[in-house]
Amino acid sequence: MPATDAQRSVASTAREPQPRPIVPPETSIIVTIDGPAGTGKSTVAHALAKALGVDVLDTGAMYRAAAAIAIDNKLSLDNPEKIVETLVDADLHFDWSQDPPAILAWMRPLNERIRKPDVTAQVSKIAAIKELREHLVRKQRIIAAQHPRLVSEGRDQGSVVFPDADVKFYLDADARVRAERRAEQLAEAGQTVTIDEVHKRILERDHLDSTRTDGPLVCPDDAITIDTTRLSFDEVVERLRREVVARIPQLRRAHGS
Ligand code: C5P
Repeated sequence: MPATDAQRSVASTAREPQPRPIVPPETSIIVTIDGPAGTGKSTVAHALAKALGVDVLDTGAMYRAAAAIAIDNKLSLDNPEKIVETLVDADLHFDWSQDPPAILAWMRPLNERIRKPDVTAQVSKIAAIKELREHLVRKQRIIAAQHPRLVSEGRDQGSVVFPDADVKFYLDADARVRAERRAEQLAEAGQTVTIDEVHKRILERDHLDSTRTDGPLVCPDDAITIDTTRLSFDEVVERLRREVVARIPQLRRAHGS
């Protein structure tokens, strides 16, 4: 009897070696990746999460969404309560059924809006607001409780949000190289900018992010620091994966490295 398409597809799926999630399903694990703009944190976090078979949290997207909402609703930075109130009203959350998870406000996806230049220009000022940080940090901890197998990336994930994370990374790179990478990403997204412009903006963002009072960008004492200046993307991801496997006994036993 000839096989139906569905049967053929099941049979071929059964024969193909399935990629086994490297973190056993019963193992909770929080991995944090902190670092400044343009170090590749976000793409590295997504690839690492895939390699480990766990979820990924892009906290920059939450701050960017807050900035987009503040701009689009003409909210003043001098009125933090109103910004937080509007975020609550917007029910800012991720749709975890998508890969990568989409960020939604008022049930509308914001993924494209949050990458626009006006949002990038404003986000560090908005991210310095104490009340907003408290609100988003609380949300990030709730997300981690609901997704206890998580790679979480941002500026303060290992230092403030998850001080007891199982493995903490701090990615860094030469500012000029970071600017070149970011300019390339922007060009791919259709935004033409010079490397000098991006370099200047990156330095401004670094300054704002590392000098703010709440949740400043710092390298946590117990973080593994990786300078990505001369490393390829694949080298960075593999290095992080090995560090995680080496530090988690259940992973060492199950997979070695
Ligand atoms: O990572 P990304 O460039 O998308 O982050 C945008 C901005 O959001 C950062 O420049 C920083 O001001 C802010 N941010 C933050 N804390 C985080 C993540 C992002 O303050 N955990």
